[in-house]
Amino acid sequence: MAEKLFLEVVTPQKLVVSEEVEILVAPGSEGEFGALKGHTTFLTSLKLGTLRYKDANGKERFLFINGGFAEVLPDKVTILAESAERRKDIDVERATKAKERAEQRLAAKAADTDLVRAEAALRRAIQRLKIKST
Ligand code: ATP
Repeated sequence: MAEKLFLEVVTPQKLVVSEEVEILVAPGSEGEFGALKGHTTFLTSLKLGTLRYKDANGKERFLFINGGFAEVLPDKVTILAESAERRKDIDVERATKAKERAEQRLAAKAADTDLVRAEAALRRAIQRLKIKST
């Protein structure tokens, strides 16, 4: 059986994941990267995306990650994310409402609308809904 590495995903609000995994694939800002036990040490920023991993039982898991940093050590990966949710914890109704809100703001283009913020909210909502439908 493959050797495991320890994965920890932390946000300012909570500890989202703390478990042994066989392999993980994360959304690095320079592109997706994979890590197995024994990987060379490195540090990278993360972009909005999906963190996938195989848990100790070989089951594939999916996580929403809204940017942050990853520290990869040979036996441990630590992810510090602005927000993160396991697929099962993603609230579809909330994400759908956030998507509609952002779309309305972007369509109305009111003078006081922060378009960059609305676009970022839209990207988060779309990513959450995509993971939920995976
Ligand atoms: P909203 O407008 O619905 O708050 P958001 O994209 O602005 O969405 P974030 O700033 O990314 O929200 O996250 C704030 C907190 O709410 C985080 O703890 C995050 O995990 C949680 N959260 C946001 N949206 C969802 C969702 N659809 N399902 C589960 N948790 C969510």
